[in-house]
Amino acid sequence: MGQIKLNQVTKSFGEVEVIPPLDLTIEDGEFTVFVGPSGCGKSTLLRLIAGLEDITSGHIEIDGADATNVPPAKRGLAMVFQSYALYPHMSVRKNIAFPMKMAGVPEDEQKRRIENAAKALNLTDYLDRKPGQLSGGQRQRVAIGRSIVREPAAFLFDEPLSNLDAALRVGMRLEISELHKRLETTMIYVTHDQVEAMTMADKIVVLRAGFIEQVGSPLELYHEPRNEFVAGFIGSPK
Ligand code: ADP
Ligand code: MG
Repeated sequence: MGQIKLNQVTKSFGEVEVIPPLDLTIEDGEFTVFVGPSGCGKSTLLRLIAGLEDITSGHIEIDGADATNVPPAKRGLAMVFQSYALYPHMSVRKNIAFPMKMAGVPEDEQKRRIENAAKALNLTDYLDRKPGQLSGGQRQRVAIGRSIVREPAAFLFDEPLSNLDAALRVGMRLEISELHKRLETTMIYVTHDQVEAMTMADKIVVLRAGFIEQVGSPLELYHEPRNEFVAGFIGSPK
């Protein structure tokens, strides 16, 4: 399960409305990419979905239930941040176990979920290492592993690869896509990189100044961009 629906959602910071009324449905299992220039509201939109920011008006539904006033920890969503925020003194295993420990998941179940996550992320041989003994890409995988074990209804990624060098980024892009195929869980992925959007998305949401300019598959946007802005951003020249 992992359908997310935004109905007439707005967000203002003081007097400034950064998200005008916005409607969007993300289907269960879909890999949706929010793309658009810096400052267009991608992170804000993701944080509204996660519950890390309060919406100013409108409603958010998760799997058909009103989640507008549900606190972030109870939404069943996992936010993967671009900074890894791993505990340097804990092993990979303990880092991955940490959120389950906090949630009181029984030890056997913890073990099972850690093994599955490690397998899905090719981390099985690294479970006893400390974050300092891992590469950037491996640390990013541990951060994702920490989300997987919570078995969320959806993963929310905010430019998770922007700290990595170009070569690593390509590899991680593929890994996240493979992970999506394996888990079949809803993923929302924020990026300002059109290549990431085109190669990873089932559905792309093109944002400009808090507005949705167009929603469609990579092919639809490429071949039939609605306007110059979309064309300039991902489409073929019109
Ligand atoms: P993006 O992630 O697409 O770069 P953001 O969602 O971070 O864009 O920002 C969208 C707009 O909202 C920007 O104009 C930004 O300055 C503004 N903004 C974001 N967070 C805050 C905040 N906490 N207070 C005031 N303005 C904010
Ligand atoms: Mg951002």
